[in-house]
Amino acid sequence: MFGEIDRPLVIALSKGRPLLAQLDLLAKLGITPSEDIGKSRKLVFPCNHPKVSLMVLRGHDVATYVEHGIADVGIVGKDVLLEFEGDNFYEPLDLKMAQCRMMVAGLVDEKPLPRRLRVATKFIETAKRFYAAEGTQIDMIKLTGGLELAPVMGLADRIVDIVETGNTLIANGLEPKALICDISSRLIVNKVAFKTKQAVIDQLIQVLTEHTL
Ligand code: AMP
Repeated sequence: MFGEIDRPLVIALSKGRPLLAQLDLLAKLGITPSEDIGKSRKLVFPCNHPKVSLMVLRGHDVATYVEHGIADVGIVGKDVLLEFEGDNFYEPLDLKMAQCRMMVAGLVDEKPLPRRLRVATKFIETAKRFYAAEGTQIDMIKLTGGLELAPVMGLADRIVDIVETGNTLIANGLEPKALICDISSRLIVNKVAFKTKQAVIDQLIQVLTEHTL
């Protein structure tokens, strides 16, 4: 349980599918928002814990707010961190939540591939690194969502995307072709806050570690 703390702590959470698991984890530490985050349009929430406040942001923005020290700590997917440019935070803990895989996928009934692959993704840096390590030349096609459609409609030969159950791939006649890496939610900590708020952040890491599988 998260106890008395001497300094205020701002925690940034990632919106979307993994938010409930993040709130459940914080509830186990005794940190609950004072109003229902799901029903509110607010972005900053006071908590039952007088010195803790929560922000709810898109994953990339969680990293940006922690990078700039507006949020002291954040919970964000490794997929976001692999794309993020800044490095003004530490990543001390794998929370082992929202576990999924970054994969290359393509059509089950695939025609012979061209020599230069067209790869559609929103994970540009991750895809670049993967194909560079393989020594494969590609043309990158940047999309922001609905990646599964790209091979089906002939826009791309392959996609690089997050796969959890694999149901979305199957529903679109796609299959995994290669695993790039495993993904899960990570705790990130602003480097300055790590020093100036050492006691409270140490305590947070300790209780989170106890509640992480
Ligand atoms: P699934 O059908 O369960 O394999 O889920 C695949 C779809 O959900 C893809 O469009 C992914 O972008 C998205 N997705 C799966 N897991 C996550 C996650 N942990 N965080 C964000 N998006 C996810």
